[in-house]
Amino acid sequence: MIELQKGIPLIDQHDEHGYWGGKFGGSQIAESLNYPIEELTREFEKLRHDEKFIAERDHYFKNFVGAPTPFIKLNNLTKHLGGAQIYCKLVSKATGGAHKAYNAVVHALIAKHLGKTFIGGDTGAGYAGKMLSMVSAHFGLKAKIFMGAKDIERQQINVFSMRSYGAEVVPVTSGSQTLVNAVSECMRWWTAENETAHMCVGSTVGPTIFVKICAWSTAQISREMKKQVIDEFGEIPKDMKLINCVGGGSSAAGFWNEWMDHDNVELIGVEAGGPEGSKKHAAPLTNSSNLGVLHGSTQYVIQDSDGEIEETESISAGLDYPGVSPLHCFLKETGRARYTSATDEEAIEAFKLVSRLEGFVSPSLEPAHAFAEAIKIAPKLSKDTIICVDSCGDSAKDAQIIAQRLGYKL
Ligand SMILES: *Cc1c(COP(=O)(O)O)cnc(C)c1O
Repeated sequence: MIELQKGIPLIDQHDEHGYWGGKFGGSQIAESLNYPIEELTREFEKLRHDEKFIAERDHYFKNFVGAPTPFIKLNNLTKHLGGAQIYCKLVSKATGGAHKAYNAVVHALIAKHLGKTFIGGDTGAGYAGKMLSMVSAHFGLKAKIFMGAKDIERQQINVFSMRSYGAEVVPVTSGSQTLVNAVSECMRWWTAENETAHMCVGSTVGPTIFVKICAWSTAQISREMKKQVIDEFGEIPKDMKLINCVGGGSSAAGFWNEWMDHDNVELIGVEAGGPEGSKKHAAPLTNSSNLGVLHGSTQYVIQDSDGEIEETESISAGLDYPGVSPLHCFLKETGRARYTSATDEEAIEAFKLVSRLEGFVSPSLEPAHAFAEAIKIAPKLSKDTIICVDSCGDSAKDAQIIAQRLGYKL
């Protein structure tokens, strides 16, 4: 039985080889990446304990990202569902519209400290690329964003932003032409260019150091919310559930970080179940017991019997990924978090209901999966239960997809 250790940050609970629970994670990479990864690991370990660096990070979180984002009660949704009280952390109000801004800021600061002039990154829904382009423009770094051709097609609004910020958007046409291929292509590029370039992995995936940097960055979200919860309730509620969608897992890891040691807080992760009735999904924690290596890291992956990564399908580009963070594999194995999935249809219904009832909370298709779970469980729970949903993205980027689904033209 693998156990979570209290009092130790989740990102530091790996062994000396970088594996959580002795088997999830690691850095199984081409030899030519050993040096840049070692350099990055060494520098990050120094920077994360450097007061000046922390002050700089916090300056950017506050003044550029716009943290803390709001924490509000959804009165209408609560009344409509008639059970648990539903609250929402509106991370979508962060600059650029999602939690990706936290990770992008930290990576740009690291790139600057390392003296790099280029920064490369992957993107799926386009937020990671958009935020990285945004901060790169600010810091005078040249940004190169790798994005699957299918995602470029379905997330044009974010692609428009990246190009406006001066980034080069590189279409990736291999495989399923989605995030999984974009990450591979970005890593290949970095293998050749790491002398002058830094790489940002857009989620808590990839070699161990990238998992750590990303989760360290998004952890800010739960630090913000813990204060907001105590302000709202005067204490930490006795029965609280935190619901978050899980693609790579950076949003959920950040939303939960400060609550790991609070046993009365249930952590619920919602993966993409794909279209109803289809076998295709992007839910490795819910539906796969297969461990595989993806992007240099061991994790649950969706693969065939020969170990080939299988194509996934989800209406949300951000969740359309066959692997998942080793942090979440570890949290599942320890029993600390519970994972489930929602279908495309459930996500659309949740988007409709929440947008109609709450107006200024209009979740993108990724957090709509988290709302779908809240909608399922809230009616059965007492009003003393507090459900907090992370609305980590704004629906603006999904306007075309949603309108098409609902049968009207923009
Ligand atoms: C990128 C993204 C996701 C999925 O990635 P995680 O690393 O699981 O957070 C989910 N929601 C939004 C809005 C995103 O931009």
